[in-house]
Amino acid sequence: MTAPVTCIRRAAWVVAWDAAERRHVYLRDADIAFAGNTIIHVGGRWDGVAARQIDGATLFVIPGLVNIHCHPAQSPIFRGFVEEFGNPRLFYSSRHRFRQSFLPDADAQRAAARFGLGELLAGGVTTLVDLSHAYPGWLDLLADSGIRAVAAPMFRSAAWFTTTGQETEYAWSPDLGEAAFAEAAAVMDTAERHPSGRLSAMVSPAQVDTCTPELLQRAAELARRTGRPLHTHAAQSYAEFAGMTRRHGITPIAWLHRLGFLGPRTILGHAVFTDAHPWILWPEKNDLRLLAESGTAVAHCPTVFLRDGSLLHDLGAYLAEGIRIAIGTDTHPQNLLEEMRTAELLARAAAGARHRCDTARVFHAATIAAAEVLGRDDLGRLVPGARADIVACTLDHPAMQPLRDPLRNLMHVAAERAVRDVWVDGTQVVAQGRVLTIDMADAARALQAEQDRIGAAVPQHDSAGARVDEIMPLALPLRA
Ligand SMILES: [Zn+2]
Repeated sequence: MTAPVTCIRRAAWVVAWDAAERRHVYLRDADIAFAGNTIIHVGGRWDGVAARQIDGATLFVIPGLVNIHCHPAQSPIFRGFVEEFGNPRLFYSSRHRFRQSFLPDADAQRAAARFGLGELLAGGVTTLVDLSHAYPGWLDLLADSGIRAVAAPMFRSAAWFTTTGQETEYAWSPDLGEAAFAEAAAVMDTAERHPSGRLSAMVSPAQVDTCTPELLQRAAELARRTGRPLHTHAAQSYAEFAGMTRRHGITPIAWLHRLGFLGPRTILGHAVFTDAHPWILWPEKNDLRLLAESGTAVAHCPTVFLRDGSLLHDLGAYLAEGIRIAIGTDTHPQNLLEEMRTAELLARAAAGARHRCDTARVFHAATIAAAEVLGRDDLGRLVPGARADIVACTLDHPAMQPLRDPLRNLMHVAAERAVRDVWVDGTQVVAQGRVLTIDMADAARALQAEQDRIGAAVPQHDSAGARVDEIMPLALPLRA
């Protein structure tokens, strides 16, 4: 029996994939049809019988977006606390009193993730890489949300902290790294066997500076053996660069290269503090070449760095060097369309007003490039044979008007406000802007309760017994 067909009839605008030219192109007045989880038609009139027809007269249809780097079990619960956050003596890093005393447990992580996944879907993300320390219920939560997910259970050999507030310190425990590695390996196997068929896995030693070289090499070996992509956070802070060069005498990226960690299936979050960054006074300039030659991809998440006053220098130069770029939201706002806008604009600011990046290249990064990094030639594109991961945006929204160039309107103005309907693997997960798989009002209430509970426990963990409002004051003083 053939699967029932859904057809979006006469969509006003479509971003279709031209496989011969290997680029996205616009189509106008086009039909898109999918049967089950597979796209069967993109283009002129489709004359088959559809179980469901959708009038596309006011729609702009694009491929589902791929969020290459995200921490949904953490980010949403930090909202209201971390926007002006950071340890000024550690270049605004997260080694901060707040993060050492506001400690979400498994219940809090589940509440954050449920809310966060709904938010991602409503913003047009159909595939996400979820970098989390594995918690009970994680994989089912991902599957139940309806999203396509790459579970990336993080493991490491050291926890980081600061006692002085001026230096990152590491509590090394290689045995714990081994145990976490074994646990992550089991979680990855479970993800790949998950009956939803929408889960896969990524090997993810947490950070370049918290893993022993042996753990990084074993992780790379596991990735090669299983064909999974490989990820770590690296070159993500000035403090990390300084610490790693002191430890090893070479840059974090050169060290990963020496360990055999770089390669076409490797993703680095976030490769900002390379030897090409203007804050870094390093005698050699090899990092960008090493990334390009090895085919290593960069998970570019500009907002979280911007919040700390730093930025990648510069996206256009990375692309010109031949470095593969994908886009992620990392923390909140978990809004990939806005993140794409930020990526493009900051590329110009960092380059000094040179337009070496543009809307088309950033959109490519958030769709095709990200899918390639994940080893998927059936995602991030609207073409027959690809998975039916589809986003229909409304052209009726004022933010999409006047309408000359819908992708520019979407990325530079409307963002998620225009997202109307979303399908993942052929199943509708968002309709008229409402998430169908998650009760968002209930998820918000649950997250509020967890944020309040974790916040109330802060004095128990803070060395001076301070309340969370003392550590992280409100933006304005609260009058009685
Ligand atoms: Zn991250």
